[in-house]
Amino acid sequence: MSNPLDVLILGGGVIGLTTAWYLAGQGARVRILERGEVGRAASWAGAGILPPALEAVALSPMDRLRALSVRLFPELSAELLRETGVPNGYVVCGGIELPDPEHPGLDLPTEEWHSPGVPVEHWGRETIRATAPYLAPDIDRAVYLPSLAQVRNPWHMRALAEGCRRRGVEILEKFDARLVAHRSRVAVEGIDADRVLVAAGAWSAELLAPLGIRLPVRPVRGQMLLYRTPDAWVRPVLLQGKRYLVPRADGRILVGSTEEEAGFDATTTADGLAGLAAFARRVMPALADASLERSWAGLRPGSPAGVPFLGAIPSFDNLHVACGHFRAGIQLSAATGLVMAQHLLGQPPSIALDSFTAYTVIDS
Ligand SMILES: Cc1cc2nc3c(=O)[nH]c(=O)nc-3n(C[C@H](O)[C@H](O)[C@H](O)COP(=O)(O)OP(=O)(O)OC[C@H]3O[C@@H](n4cnc5c(N)ncnc54)[C@H](O)[C@@H]3O)c2cc1C
Repeated sequence: MSNPLDVLILGGGVIGLTTAWYLAGQGARVRILERGEVGRAASWAGAGILPPALEAVALSPMDRLRALSVRLFPELSAELLRETGVPNGYVVCGGIELPDPEHPGLDLPTEEWHSPGVPVEHWGRETIRATAPYLAPDIDRAVYLPSLAQVRNPWHMRALAEGCRRRGVEILEKFDARLVAHRSRVAVEGIDADRVLVAAGAWSAELLAPLGIRLPVRPVRGQMLLYRTPDAWVRPVLLQGKRYLVPRADGRILVGSTEEEAGFDATTTADGLAGLAAFARRVMPALADASLERSWAGLRPGSPAGVPFLGAIPSFDNLHVACGHFRAGIQLSAATGLVMAQHLLGQPPSIALDSFTAYTVIDS
């Protein structure tokens, strides 16, 4: 590729930053335009749960993307640490999936947290009491996922942003980008680029709409609570239905999350937080005495079936998207960054992108 810029990325969340990191690793010149501060939107707000997945048995493109990402995460985390000195909190902590009282008949593990072929252990009352005595006494069955991992989102975002800068990526913050079309190419207010990548999370559809492109990506609000406990007394992530408790190594315990259609309103609500607190106490009664440190909400980039849009927008020569990762954007970020970098550099992507562009609807 040639001057003036190789790749212009709109959006500095986990998807934009990880793609920039892999691009810059291959010598591309990359500029990120970010409306606020990098790594402060959904990618900051999330829980950082990385459910396990296995490449050997992953058949669908989505399963393969997930499994590739899970394989890449330890290597990406180690490389970020080596190049920046910033740890991202990646740790294989395991996960315990609990029966969901709202769906008592459901077999464990559920698809929400389990991919094909991943090892599990079925636990009965005695194992639960011996291994996780902090769980509520009426919980008498569970499934243990030993290979589930987590990252600390704010740390991972800091490491990625620093890693990108060190690799020469130019990051422009407080830059509210607008796309303009010139014949078959797009640009941003005078900034031309060989390739333009929209990685603006929940705001991606808004950015593309003025070009006549409709992408079914919408904001789905998730609220979170953070408890501070004196010691790191819980290790595995606790999962129940779509909710979870994520213990951090310093004793903090994150509780998530709601799933709400509230437009672009990223504020918390009394009902949402009360529901999370009640869930947390039901699963771990001792949390009734823990101090609440803070709460927040973030906007997931929702998409049909949670399958992201990855690849070229065919009506323009230089426009590409990577968005719509919904509930799994952190988990999918490593593979997304890698395959998008390959695609943008004209290399065959490790996973074919055809099935990730199927939902793109273009108005002519
Ligand atoms: C409460 C919650 C819990 C979650 N838990 C998990 C989890 O445990 N595991 C997991 O894998 N995933 C989880 N997720 C999902 C995950 O966080 C998201 O899928 C992921 O962060 C999306 O990343 P992104 O880069 O696409 O979007 P974002 O992080 O939202 O980044 C998009 C960026 O684009 C910028 N932008 C928007 N418009 C413009 C513009 N016009 N010009 C310039 N910049 C613009 C925004 O300011 C933003 O910084 C969770 C999400 C939430 C909210």
